[in-house]
Amino acid sequence: MTAALAAPLLLTGDDPSYREHLARYGQVPELPHGVLRDRARAVDLRGRGGAAFPAWRKIAGTPQGAIVVGNGAEGEPLSAKDRTLLTAAPHRVVDGLVAVARAVRAGRVALVAAEGPAYEAAVRAVAERQVPVDVVAAPRRFVAGQETAVVNLLRSGTALPTTGRPPSLVLNVETLAHLGLLARDPRAFEGIGSPVEPGTRLHTVSVAGQGELRVVEVPTGTPTDEVLRLAGVDPASTAAVLVGGYHGSWSPTAPPGAGVLVALPVGVCPLGWVGGVLAYLAAESAGQCGPCVNGLPALAAAFRDLLAGRGIARVQELVGLVEGRGGCHHPDGTARLVRSTLTTFAAELEAHARGGCATGRRG
Ligand code: SF4
Repeated sequence: MTAALAAPLLLTGDDPSYREHLARYGQVPELPHGVLRDRARAVDLRGRGGAAFPAWRKIAGTPQGAIVVGNGAEGEPLSAKDRTLLTAAPHRVVDGLVAVARAVRAGRVALVAAEGPAYEAAVRAVAERQVPVDVVAAPRRFVAGQETAVVNLLRSGTALPTTGRPPSLVLNVETLAHLGLLARDPRAFEGIGSPVEPGTRLHTVSVAGQGELRVVEVPTGTPTDEVLRLAGVDPASTAAVLVGGYHGSWSPTAPPGAGVLVALPVGVCPLGWVGGVLAYLAAESAGQCGPCVNGLPALAAAFRDLLAGRGIARVQELVGLVEGRGGCHHPDGTARLVRSTLTTFAAELEAHARGGCATGRRG
């Protein structure tokens, strides 16, 4: 399901064909490096892939001849915003990619999209425009969206994180779509969203234990409860919200990261649900670093024990052991979820320690 703003900037629903896109918006202008950078800086455009790094800083630090990559790999299973954008408005993304590539005089340009409809839409869009962009399909695995994994995929065909990479500018596809709008009009975000970071943002909203992912485009700064409502989720029947997906935290005021929100319904055991997520995350280790390969399965097992009432000491110990010791962010993100779960759900922890469950259902 996809919902949108009354006047969206990205999910405009006016079809993905380049002929229509050109007729409505014309060619994306060719801007010098400094102009595009300054337009991104003026609105404090932050990366929409999760890290929220200022886009202008990335552009400013990119040497001529670097690889420029649009990242739509979207490895997080609870995120669908990038594939929704690529299938609904691929030329918005390619506009930004072309504008950035020209501005930094890229040596190579690539668009990485999750295998399936997003990849197919990206291939069609690039072929229609006849631009020199390599379109590459990313496998559906959690770590495939990390920047080093995306560059590694282009170089070696393997979507695994690495330490070190060639000069490259990797921007999430939503970030690129916003840059495409700014390339056309520096005032594109005027009067929309937060005054400090104007514009819109895509969110993927889901309900824990249910399969449907709902993508909404909202003004920046929209409160979490309002985003839930726009996605058709009733905040009154929601016990807690996980912000940031499987590497996120249970804080409705946390930075939105990649825009993934998970509503935990009243009556569903958060510990049971997190236990399932940890088993998934342990299996998604890329198999390269000991603390991740051995530590995450051990952490998932200790959390299962916690569910069975065997205490939290081992869980806390393992969180400390894996944190900061992987070759990528995967162990740190997993540790963040566990820490947040332990501090947010004290009543449920106590109930499990007594051999019961405060909520009864385990998601
Ligand atoms: S920390 Fe885990 S996912 Fe990251 S590079 Fe090492 S083994 Fe791979």
